[in-house]
Amino acid sequence: MTDGAARCLEVHGRKDIRDISIPRLTASDPEQLWTSGQWMTERSGGSDVSLTETRAYPQSDHTWTIKGFKWFSSATDSDITLLLAKTPNSDKVSLFWARVKNEDGSLNGVRIIRLKDKFGTKSIPTAELELTGMKNAVMIGKEGEGVKVISEVLNITRVHSAFGCVTNMRRAFDIVTVYPVLSVNLIFRIIPRNEKYSDDC
Ligand SMILES: Cc1cc2nc3c(=O)[nH]c(=O)nc-3n(C[C@H](O)[C@H](O)[C@H](O)COP(=O)(O)OP(=O)(O)OC[C@H]3O[C@@H](n4cnc5c(N)ncnc54)[C@H](O)[C@@H]3O)c2cc1C
Repeated sequence: MTDGAARCLEVHGRKDIRDISIPRLTASDPEQLWTSGQWMTERSGGSDVSLTETRAYPQSDHTWTIKGFKWFSSATDSDITLLLAKTPNSDKVSLFWARVKNEDGSLNGVRIIRLKDKFGTKSIPTAELELTGMKNAVMIGKEGEGVKVISEVLNITRVHSAFGCVTNMRRAFDIVTVYPVLSVNLIFRIIPRNEKYSDDC
């Protein structure tokens, strides 16, 4: 998600947000590195993003405050997130950049309701989050084009997923094809030969 977020900001982000975020998202020094979440899915149904209930409220300094509930958010320990919300002027979702934590380390208007008891990568926490007022959010791309803009992230995460699936399937295939050969070798060749050698000794 982090490399996807970097790409998304590179293509659609405002210059100041690009300058703040991209060196961090692409840093190889762990002290400098930021990770990013992608918060889309809501209780109303993940596939149908048009039912998004989260709202973004414009502030006088051209930033936005975001309130709502995200139902299935991975990497909730990330430094920034790209999240979908509806603005007062549009019934279509827009994409926002926001810091997950404030400078003092406290959460930026995020309340962790519970961690998902998921099957799979436990080291990446996935959680239900109440957004009680995420401050200083910045719109990425055009208003109402959130799905199109966040597709930059999705495309890259889905490429990672596809590689992960294909490589694991290949590994499983190797195991099931090699196992019988090894078993036959063990039973008919390796064990008797080893026994013979031990007899010779
Ligand atoms: C491990 C994990 C991590 C996740 N991490 C994130 C994350 O970081 N950020 C995030 O935003 N979301 C995340 N999600 C949520 C994920 O993106 C959603 O689960 C997904 O969008 C599907 O939504 P849903 O679960 O609400 O299923 P639904 O949308 O309710 O779909 C249920 C079933 O109906 C089918 N279906 C839905 N609509 C149609 C249709 N129109 N026609 C035919 N069939 C349909 C679906 O294929 C599915 O089989 C994560 C999910 C998992 C499992």
